[in-house]
Amino acid sequence: KTVCVTGASGYIASWLVKFLLQRGYTVKASVRDPNNPKKRDHLLKLDGAKERLHLFKAELLEDGSFDAAIDGCEGVFHTASPFYHAVTDPQKFFCIDGQALLSWFQAELIDPAVKGTLNVLGSCAKTSSVKRVVLTSSIAAVAYNGKPRTPEVVVDESWFSDPDFCKEAKMWYVVSKTLAEDAAWKFAKEKGFDMVTINPAMVIGPLLQPVLNTSAEAIANLLKGSQTYANASFGWVNVKDVAYAHIQAFEIPSATGRYCLVERVAHYSQVVEILRKLYPSSQLPDKCADDKPFVPIYQVSKEKAKSLGIDYIPIEQSIQETVESLKEKNFIGATSSN
Ligand code: NDP
Repeated sequence: KTVCVTGASGYIASWLVKFLLQRGYTVKASVRDPNNPKKRDHLLKLDGAKERLHLFKAELLEDGSFDAAIDGCEGVFHTASPFYHAVTDPQKFFCIDGQALLSWFQAELIDPAVKGTLNVLGSCAKTSSVKRVVLTSSIAAVAYNGKPRTPEVVVDESWFSDPDFCKEAKMWYVVSKTLAEDAAWKFAKEKGFDMVTINPAMVIGPLLQPVLNTSAEAIANLLKGSQTYANASFGWVNVKDVAYAHIQAFEIPSATGRYCLVERVAHYSQVVEILRKLYPSSQLPDKCADDKPFVPIYQVSKEKAKSLGIDYIPIEQSIQETVESLKEKNFIGATSSN
């Protein structure tokens, strides 16, 4: 069987391509820059790549860019979308006013996510070969709607983030994923598409690619001698479980709708505690970045993901695998996590 993976150089997509090749699929992989060894070589080295991996150059904002990669594929895994919060205070960073800032987020995050998704789905609509689209959405498109999230609350697939609430809170990445998933469902309904979305929380675990991605960086930052950790609680999930869930969502005929993927919700203070147990002599932050009460943890239902056969890797193992991989790739010094 032939399938397409968009944004194949990325963190999640690299594992997805690896597992698809292992299972005997032929993979048409879109990458933005196939001439850049850092975006390509780790894929070309995968088992089966020589025989069954084909790279295609494609850019989310170029109309029709994905046609060649998608034509002839039975399944399309659309993972490509910008993910970064790296510029935490872009206003200061860019010295630009509010309106220019909004335009910047629109151009850098929201347009590639929303128009890019419609562009990819448009290419799917041009060919009769595509039987199912698996869209990499996010818990960002699920859990951010202003409803309280406390330890008793169970977030599930029936929740949908509220873009206005997220814009108000200036959570631009969250806005981008919410609008992209919403636009995708509307398009799928209109065209009678079979689409399934995977909605993972913060993804951690080993890196295949040589470039540090945003979610693994969240762990790396805790090991770089910082004094404080953020007052934030996130769900966490292993990249291998996320990649496997994508494949199950394609292969299981009855898979439908959305699938939240979270092994455990943990506050940064708890992540630091796990790191301290694993690496007792490492330098870790010991206080919160603000004096406010800790942002509460909450629950995310595991029921639906069970039907994909997901048996989650525990957060402790995921954190350990992340650190070992970060060390191996020299994203953190060996001494910061002995
Ligand atoms: P990466 O940054 O590693 O991967 C993102 C991919 O998208 C890269 O291949 C990137 O290409 C590609 N991309 C970005 N902008 C464009 C563009 N304009 N045109 C073409 N390709 C583009 O992140 P992840 O692997 O973490 O993210 C993959 C998907 O998973 C995203 O949709 C993200 O929103 C979602 N997700 C991630 C989570 C996480 O914690 N990691 C959690 C929930 C969802 P290039 O390599 O050239 O930059």
